Amino acid sequence: METSILSGIEASKALYSSLEGRITHLKNHGITPGLAAVLVGNNPASEIYVKNKTKKFEALGLKTDLFRLNEDISEKELLSLIEKLNSNVKFHGILVQLPLPKHIDSEKVLNAILPTKDVDGFHPENAGLLSIGKPRFIPCTPKGMMFILKHFNIHLNGKHVVVIGRSNIVGRPISILASLKELGNATVTLCHSGTKDLKYFSKQADVLVAALGSPEFVDASYIKEGVCILDVGINRIEKDGMSKIVGDVNQESVLGIASSLTPVPKGVGPMTIAMLVENTVLSAELLLN
Ligand code: NDP
Repeated sequence: METSILSGIEASKALYSSLEGRITHLKNHGITPGLAAVLVGNNPASEIYVKNKTKKFEALGLKTDLFRLNEDISEKELLSLIEKLNSNVKFHGILVQLPLPKHIDSEKVLNAILPTKDVDGFHPENAGLLSIGKPRFIPCTPKGMMFILKHFNIHLNGKHVVVIGRSNIVGRPISILASLKELGNATVTLCHSGTKDLKYFSKQADVLVAALGSPEFVDASYIKEGVCILDVGINRIEKDGMSKIVGDVNQESVLGIASSLTPVPKGVGPMTIAMLVENTVLSAELLLN
C-alpha cells in the first residue's frame, strides 16, 4: 500500500488563503487582528517558536508585539502585564510561551488571560466550552489536526480514533473534537501511560494519533494496515552524530502499511502556527459581531 503524506505545509497554505478575505473584511472595519506574545527568559526552543509565530503574523499584515521578560521576573509582575494586555484593545489574542521559569505558576498565569483573548485555548472556560460541544477557542495543535484531515478528505464519521497521550493541549482536546457529533462523530479511545496493552488498542485504530512525546515510539507493530496516522511528536535526537527532529512515530517503519501519515517536520507543526493566526482572526471577528 502506498502511504500518502499529509503535508501540513500544503494544508496551512490553504488555511492562510482562506483567511485573506476574513482579514480584509476586518481591516475594512478598521480592525487589524493583533497578538501579544509574551516570552520569559532565554529558552532557545521558545525563542524559535515565538519567532516563527510572530513572523507569520507580520507576513499576513497582522499586528504582533513581543513582550520579552527577564528569567527572574516575579509572578506578580507577569500577572500585572497580563492584566494590562487583557484591557488593551489592540490585542485580540495573548500568547504566553511555555515553559515558564519554575518559580512561576504557569496555570495561574494562563488562567489570568481573559478567556476571550485566550487564542491558545488553554483557559478552563474554553476547555469547558469545548467539552460541552460549544467550542470557542480550540487549542491550536488539535484544531490544526482536524483541519489536515478535512483538507485531505479524511472523514472521521463512524471511524475508530485511538489517541495516545492525554495532555490538555493535544491528546484530550483531539479526543473530544473527534468525538463531537458535528465535527468528528468518531468512536474514540484515549490511551495514556496507565493503559494496559497499548498495542491491543492502537491496532484497532482507523486513525491513530501519536502524542506521547517519545521519539519514534510507534512502529509497524502498533498499527493495522490502512490506518491514517497523525504524528504530533516533536523530539530532538542525536542520530549518526547529527541532531535531528523526529516524531513519536518511526515513520520509515510504517510506510507501506499506513494509508496516510503526517510527516515530521512539516506535518502537524505548521498547522499549529496557522491555527494561532486563525484563532486571533476569530477573536477579532467575535468582537466585531
Ligand atoms: P505531555 O508530556 O504533556 O503528555 C504526554 C502524554 O502521553 C501523557 O498523557 C502521558 O501519559 C502519555 N504517555 C507518555 N508515555 C506513554 C506511553 N509509553 N504509552 C502511553 N502513553 C504515554 O506531552 P504533550 O501532549 O505536550 O506533547 C506530546 C508530543 O507532541 C511531544 O513530542 C511534543 O513535543 C509534541 N507537540 C507538538 C506540537 C506541534 O505543534 N506539532 C504541539 C505540542 C506538542 P500520562 O498522562 O499518564 O503521563
